[in-house]
Parts: sequence; structure tokens; C-alpha cells
Amino acid sequence: MILGAGTAGTMVANKLRAKYTPAELDITIVDQDDQHHYQPGYLFLPFGQLAPGQIVRSRHSFIPDGVNLLLCGVQRVDAEAKQVHLRNGGLLDYDTLIIATGVQARPEATPGGVGPEYGKSVHNFYDLEAAERLQEAMRTFQGGRLVVHITDVPFKCPVAPLEFTFLADAYFKDKKIRKKVDIVFVTPLDGAFTKPVASRELADALKKRNVTLETDFAIAEIDNERKEIVSFDDRRIPFDLLVTVPLNMGPDYIAESGLGDDLNLVPCDQGTMRALAHPDIFVLGDGGTLQTSKAGSVAHFQVDIFMENWPQYLAGQQLTHNFDGHANCFIESGDGKGMLLDFNYETQPYTGTFPLPVVGPMALLKETRANHWAKLAFRFVYWEFLIKGRPLPFTADMYLMGKNIEGPASGTATADLFKGLFSKAAKSPSKVAGTAAKARAKAGRGARPYTAKPTEPKAAARAAAGPSEPVPVYVAQKGVDSTADPATVLPDPIIPKF
Ligand SMILES: Cc1cc2nc3c(=O)[nH]c(=O)nc-3n(C[C@H](O)[C@H](O)[C@H](O)COP(=O)(O)OP(=O)(O)OC[C@H]3O[C@@H](n4cnc5c(N)ncnc54)[C@H](O)[C@@H]3O)c2cc1C
Repeated sequence: MILGAGTAGTMVANKLRAKYTPAELDITIVDQDDQHHYQPGYLFLPFGQLAPGQIVRSRHSFIPDGVNLLLCGVQRVDAEAKQVHLRNGGLLDYDTLIIATGVQARPEATPGGVGPEYGKSVHNFYDLEAAERLQEAMRTFQGGRLVVHITDVPFKCPVAPLEFTFLADAYFKDKKIRKKVDIVFVTPLDGAFTKPVASRELADALKKRNVTLETDFAIAEIDNERKEIVSFDDRRIPFDLLVTVPLNMGPDYIAESGLGDDLNLVPCDQGTMRALAHPDIFVLGDGGTLQTSKAGSVAHFQVDIFMENWPQYLAGQQLTHNFDGHANCFIESGDGKGMLLDFNYETQPYTGTFPLPVVGPMALLKETRANHWAKLAFRFVYWEFLIKGRPLPFTADMYLMGKNIEGPASGTATADLFKGLFSKAAKSPSKVAGTAAKARAKAGRGARPYTAKPTEPKAAARAAAGPSEPVPVYVAQKGVDSTADPATVLPDPIIPKF
């Protein structure tokens, strides 16, 4: 049973259906509506670069034959009874549940977030209607202070507000009113991004565009009357146009089911995406507590790892394939250029080239046309390859080749990458686990202590019936805190005077 037919749910439904016949595996996927949104397209809508018709398609086109698609909201999951309660009163039993309902923007969670100025001078681009309203606001904006603001972490696509800022700079230059627009980028983090090298490079990119960076801003309210955002430490930033990234939270049914934390994220293992409290539940996509970016590329890599573990799960064995937190994010930077970030749990985004050393063709943390074209191509790749579960030339394991390493790092070494690409043996579980362990050893870090999790009754029964292979060794994956990191404090934060 898959809950959510968005990026991760659609992808995993396709991959499972391609591998198992309906007689072997009965797959049902549930979503509340029939509109699959290409969410990265929301960024381009306010600038008139994409139309809603290019962003929305029917879910039916992407759910393969032999998968039951149910269009109805999920009300509650009873994890003990292994049942899903639907909003229409329906009840569904499951053996294994995949939660892929992601996170959604909650502007109402901030005091004043949906006040009288909402949709007038207070905007966001985190859903289709909001992005459309913002398009009109951008079109009619004649000058003044544009504040681009992040409410809190984590939120999906952590580079999106930076991209919006870069595109706004280019947009107003094009309209010949850039000099009349004062752009301020306000973040709860202590730098432009979470990690030192990216923070430095992206702060430079903001500075180059004459954008003011305001850090450590924990928002208390949006004061609609005075048109100011107010922080808990009483800083007030006036705006003429506010573009905020609202708090991102998982859906309410997660809370109602007692499955989530205070943001309705389901606590899950950093390596296997298995729910910590329920071994027969997996969380794919944005809906879990993985300490990496919430992004479509990350969902892709998670699903690849999930698929590698799935036969072991069915056989009641321990899961030996570990997600390394790999994230691959293109940043649209305006003027036909873009940047690329590639990182994982232990390796921060570095400069360098991707995927090949020296020749690239993509450059890491550098503005190039190749990165821009790759970002634009993502829409085609998303509809035609990613969610259809077709193979893509990006490995789930991050590799270090081409990166200018400036500190501790882990990932697949060049030799392992080539073995992984060309040798079947390298894809065996023990090899993958060995690679991760080697990388950790190279980075001078040991594995975190691992407590074996109980297997669920059915899998345990199957295992007791005699699994044909010995249980491979589990290698735990160390997670890191992707939120504010003391090491990212910029040496010279730019604090504007308002
Ligand atoms: C502005 C923006 C820009 C982005 N740019 C990029 C980018 O450039 N690159 C990139 O890789 N990623 C990007 N992303 C992130 C990417 O879109 C998400 O990370 C990805 O879609 C997450 O997949 P998911 O399956 O977890 O969730 P989603 O794709 O959001 O799917 C969740 C599904 O669950 C359904 N659902 C929710 N609640 C219920 C319920 N109660 N009952 C039934 N169904 C329910 C929803 O209808 C939805 O279909 C961007 C996101 C945004 C908002």
C-alpha cells in the first residue's frame, strides 16, 4: 500500500510493478486528487517562464497497469491493525505500507501568515495557486523592498528561495527597474546555506547581485498592518512585497495516526527509510526525518536503495543497502545560468566538476550555462524518466570524483564508481556496504552503534521457514544534522540596518 502518488510514490509504484507481477505483489496507491504537479515548475511560474499547463498532469498517465489507483484522502493509519482509513469511510488492509505523502506549505502556521495582506503583498510559491498569484504581484511590482524569507527548516528544495532571489534580480534588471528594488534575503540559518563552502559561495552570489543577507531570523509574526516581518529577538524588516517559504509540514493524518514528530515527519532510519517504530512501514520522499535535502533527486536515490533492500525485506532478512543522503540540486541563478550542488550526509557541497573530473560538463557551485540547461531539462527527465521509474545515469551513492574536497568527506571513490557501473559483482549487498564502511573509515568516522530492529511477524515467519541466504552484515549509516550547524557561521555576517 503506497500513500501518496507524488514523486516518490509514483516512482516506487512503477519500479515495483516492473519487477513483480500482480500475482506476486498486489500494489495499491492512494492520493487525494488526480493532479500530479511538477513542483520545481512553481519557481518559474512567478516569472512567466512556465504556464500551469506545463506543470500539472493527470496521475493516471503515470501509474502503470496492474496498480490500483484510489483517489481519496487518507484520514488515518492504524499501524497496529495495519489498516488505512480513508476520508470517504473506506478501510484498506496492508501488509507493508509506504508513506509517500511528502510535506506541504502551511502559511497559517505563522502568526499573520494568512492575514489581510495574504495574496496582496504577502506571497509564496510553494503551491500552484500561490505561485500564480505571485506572478501577478511580480508583474505589477514597480519598486520598493522585496523580502525573500524562509520560515524554518526543513523545507522542500532548500535552494528554491535562493533561486527565486537570483531570478528576481534578473527579472527586475530585464524590466529596467532593478535600481528601484531593494532585495533582502532573510533566513533562520546562520548563513546563505547550511554548510560552510556552499554558504560562502552563495553569500558571494547574493552580494554580487547587491542582495542583503539577514541571518538567524526566527520569525515571530508577519505584521500585516505595518507590513513587517518580526523576529523573536525583535528585529523588524519592512517589506513592500514579501515572498516567504512557509513552514513545511507533513499531512495531518500523520499526527492523527500517532506516527510523526511535531512537524508530522515520520521518524525513520537514515539508511533504509524504515519507520523506527514500525518495521512494516517505509517513508519515501520528503515525509521522513532523513537529515538531507527534501528534493525529487533525493526521492529518486532513496527509491533506488529501497528497491535494492526490498528482496531482503521480503525474505525477512536484515536490510544491508544504505542510503548515504545523496542530494543533487540545480540552482537556477538567472541570466541563462545555473549552479549545481552535490552532497550527502557526510560530505558538504564542494566546488569542482560533475560528473567527470576537469571536463564536467557541469560545474559545482559555479554559475554556468550547462547547469542552466540541465535544470531546464529536468522537467522532461521528471515526466519521462524519473517518475516512470526508468533508469537514469545518476548513482544513488554520491561519488567524490571531480570534487575539490575541503574537509571530511565520504562517498564512492572513483575506482568503486567504475566497478559499480560496469561490474555486476559490485552491486552485491556486501560490496555496497563495504564501500560505505570504507568511505567512513577514510573520513575517520566509525559506524554509529546499531540496535537491531524487530522484524515484523510475517517476515519473521518467512525467515523462520528458512531463508536461503545467510543474513548479511548491517552497516549503519551515520546521519548528520542538516539544520543550522555551528560550523557554518560566516566570518563576516552582513547585518543590514533597517
Ligand atoms: C518550489 C519548489 C521547487 C522545487 N524544486 C526542486 C528541484 O529543482 N529539484 C528537485 O529535485 N526537487 C525540487 N522540489 C522538491 C520536490 O518537488 C519534492 O521534494 C518531491 O516532490 C517530494 O516527493 P514526495 O513524493 O515526497 O512528495 P510529493 O511529490 O509532494 O507527493 C505527495 C503526495 O501525497 C498526496 N497527499 C498528501 N496528503 C494526503 C492525504 N492526506 N491523502 C492522500 N494523499 C495525500 C499529495 O496529493 C501528493 O500527491 C521543489 C519543490 C518546490 C515546492
